[in-house]
Amino acid sequence: MLNGKVALVTGASRGIGKEIAMTFAKEGIVVIVNYNGNKALADEVVLDIEAAGGKAEAYCCNVADYGAVEEMMKYIVEKYKSLDILVNNAGITKDGLLMKMSEVDYDSVLDINLKGTFNCIKHISRQMLKQKQGRIINLSSVVGVYGNAGQINYAASKAGIIGLTKATAKELGSRGITVNAIAPGFISTEMTDAMTDEAKAQVISRIALKRLGVTKDVADLALFLASDQGSYISGQVIGVDGGMSL
Ligand code: NAP
Repeated sequence: MLNGKVALVTGASRGIGKEIAMTFAKEGIVVIVNYNGNKALADEVVLDIEAAGGKAEAYCCNVADYGAVEEMMKYIVEKYKSLDILVNNAGITKDGLLMKMSEVDYDSVLDINLKGTFNCIKHISRQMLKQKQGRIINLSSVVGVYGNAGQINYAASKAGIIGLTKATAKELGSRGITVNAIAPGFISTEMTDAMTDEAKAQVISRIALKRLGVTKDVADLALFLASDQGSYISGQVIGVDGGMSL
């Protein structure tokens, strides 16, 4: 039963995170809609959820900031008394070839994507251990599994998330906490809107289903992993890529 559970979805002001937040809320899950820069969009997500009869609140926090994440988790636990589901979705890209990549672009992607995921798990793990239950869902990527030229920072962060997921699943599993990674292929969002039509066509030619994915494809898997049906799945990296990785 998901009704009344509490979930934090990081980076939920748009794209995949927004879709996960909306999908969870439809099942009666109370959703904390985390964002970093875009308050107006996060507030809109909350209003949409409330208009559909759900419960949500927006919370601004840079997941790369260790202390700020600690404050966010304290706030959530004090207010809601539990956090049942954590979705580490916040992520950025700063693409460029290795030879041209600046240290700043490398560090910022690792800080938000990988350290942000660590920060959130770190600061909620004690609470989840106390609860003796919890679901942690981390957003990796096909790029973390196979690599991609021009994205060494992003690939390193998403591969790191896979290692983090597996090790955390082993550490927390005995207390009923599952930890899994979703590895989307190319999903239509602002992140992929930045690609040229030529790059998109090239990508689509490598996908068995011959189309980009939609945010719902990822949100439906997140919901399954959060539900009772997903209770014996842990430490896995599950692709949602239309057969791109074949
Ligand atoms: P998106 O549309 O660019 O949205 C990114 C979200 O992350 C926004 O809500 C943004 O909020 C938030 N965010 C960025 N930096 C943050 C920070 N420091 N702290 C907190 N929130 C932050 O991205 P998306 O395409 O939906 O991707 C979502 C996740 O799926 C990412 O982890 C991405 O790597 C992964 N993924 C996406 C694809 C794809 O094809 N789209 C494929 C594989 C994996 P603000 O604007 O408020 O900062």
